[in-house]
Amino acid sequence: MFAVTILGNNSAIPTPDRHPTSQVITYNDQLILVDCGEGTQMQLQRYKIKRGRIRHIFISHLHGDHYFGLIGLINSMSLLGRIEPLSVYGPPELEEILQIQLHVAATTLNFELNFHPLLPGQTGVVLKEKEMEVSFFPTRHRIPCYGFSFSLQRRKRRIIPEQARIYEIPAAFYSKLQEGADYERKDGKVVKNDWVTLPPPRAKRYVYCADSIYDEDLVPHMKEADIVYHETTYLHDLSQRAADRFHSTTVQAATLAKMAGAHRLLIGHFSSKYTELQPFLDETRPVFPETELAIEGVTYLI
Ligand SMILES: [Zn+2]
Ligand SMILES: [Zn+2]
Repeated sequence: MFAVTILGNNSAIPTPDRHPTSQVITYNDQLILVDCGEGTQMQLQRYKIKRGRIRHIFISHLHGDHYFGLIGLINSMSLLGRIEPLSVYGPPELEEILQIQLHVAATTLNFELNFHPLLPGQTGVVLKEKEMEVSFFPTRHRIPCYGFSFSLQRRKRRIIPEQARIYEIPAAFYSKLQEGADYERKDGKVVKNDWVTLPPPRAKRYVYCADSIYDEDLVPHMKEADIVYHETTYLHDLSQRAADRFHSTTVQAATLAKMAGAHRLLIGHFSSKYTELQPFLDETRPVFPETELAIEGVTYLI
């Protein structure tokens, strides 16, 4: 399973039923938190997501609607007896902010907090594990801001059943075939792995574009992603306001998703001035039909 659950879909000001930005990525029993606006830990509880299972937290930028919930979450993790290390990725100033917050409260965490600074002007892979690879890239916002690309590697080769039968390979050996092993028959002849298998399917990819003005430089990062999340703070009649505040509109997000050949587009970070979200879809879908609203509590399979 590779999925993203929305915890907050609002822009700067929280409302009773819409929260600032936060999302949880789930892959094979692992959790990654992406941004941590105010109220994130309450949202985790509401949707019964175990905060103890979060191992990595990515913070896109230091506007409060993307990280004001972080110190609260870290504190609760410690109070609840967490001992597993936690990795936090974000702008370098975030480390200082966290240290001051912990220092003035004379708080010593029970667990190791590993901070990975995302330095301005840098880009590239920031986390590489057996299954998950995360890279980051700059977006154009009022302050330094990063998007993230989450790529779930799929390593098992695909067996071609007819071929496997022709070479009389027993089913018990299939899991080894998926790992790339050759098969040696009783008569000593070797069946090469690539005679009976195909390469693994391509990695699945979720691209989170954080906050950004309309920026075609994002397109290469969004290229053919399974799901792209792009903010749509405003409907398109407010494109001037969006530009002034380094945010985007419906039509702009849809245009980039189309240019990138993305499979699906998820839109969020709605200004709290809007009470109805349907107009966001109505404006986006004519440009990019495979668009969905980021709705809190909803999980989207990638
Ligand atoms: Zn924001
Ligand atoms: Zn922002």
